[in-house]
Amino acid sequence: MATQVEVSREFTYRVAAGIDAGLNRVKEISMAKNFACSVSDRVTYDAVQIFGGYGFMRGSVVERLFRDNRVLTIGGGTTEIMKEIISKHIF
Ligand SMILES: Cc1cc2nc3c(=O)[nH]c(=O)nc-3n(C[C@H](O)[C@H](O)[C@H](O)COP(=O)(O)OP(=O)(O)OC[C@H]3O[C@@H](n4cnc5c(N)ncnc54)[C@H](O)[C@@H]3O)c2cc1C
Repeated sequence: MATQVEVSREFTYRVAAGIDAGLNRVKEISMAKNFACSVSDRVTYDAVQIFGGYGFMRGSVVERLFRDNRVLTIGGGTTEIMKEIISKHIF
């Protein structure tokens, strides 16, 4: 889980550095968002699993993270729209 988060963070920072350098990073922004969201899905799912029944209960931190995570693939551009943007810039 920590490795996935770290890879996601590094990719995001790399894309941000490209933008700071004035490069066109439209495709990479969408890739980074989708990648980070899929990592977040997996990590919050696994976190609930680790805590077992307690992780499922309202009031536990991981339950809140799991629930809040769900909006990430919708807000700020849905996963499907990100894929559309990537496909338009892939070649
Ligand atoms: C908690 C929350 C906070 C938000 N905050 C903000 C905010 O601060 N500012 C703001 O501007 N907006 C905000 N939004 C709105 C958010 O950006 C939209 O919900 C999002 O862009 C999706 O639009 P929609 O809900 O109209 O879904 P729709 O556009 O109706 O899409 C529904 C589904 O169809 C898919 N879909 C749509 N078009 C295509 C296509 N061409 N190809 C393939 N699949 C497609 C979508 O990916 C999605 O899965 C927020 C949303 C939520 C839930």
